[in-house]
Amino acid sequence: MKKERYIKICPHCGSTGIRIPPAGMDIRMTQPDYCESCHNRGIFPEIKESEVAEFKKNLKKKS
Ligand SMILES: [Zn+2]
Repeated sequence: MKKERYIKICPHCGSTGIRIPPAGMDIRMTQPDYCESCHNRGIFPEIKESEVAEFKKNLKKKS
C-alpha cells in the first residue's frame, strides 16, 4: 500500500526546510514550527509531497 507523505511547508517562502520541535513533555502545548530559510515561526500547513511544486508555483504568482 502506497501512502502519500505529508510534509510541512513554509507559507511565506515555500521552503520545506522546517524544523519541528521534538515532542516531549510539553506535548500539550502548541509548539511553533520554524523555517530555516526565512526564519518565520508559526504553525505551518502540511501538504502532500506531490503538491509541493504546485504550492511553490502559487507562491511565486502572488509575489
Ligand atoms: Zn520560510
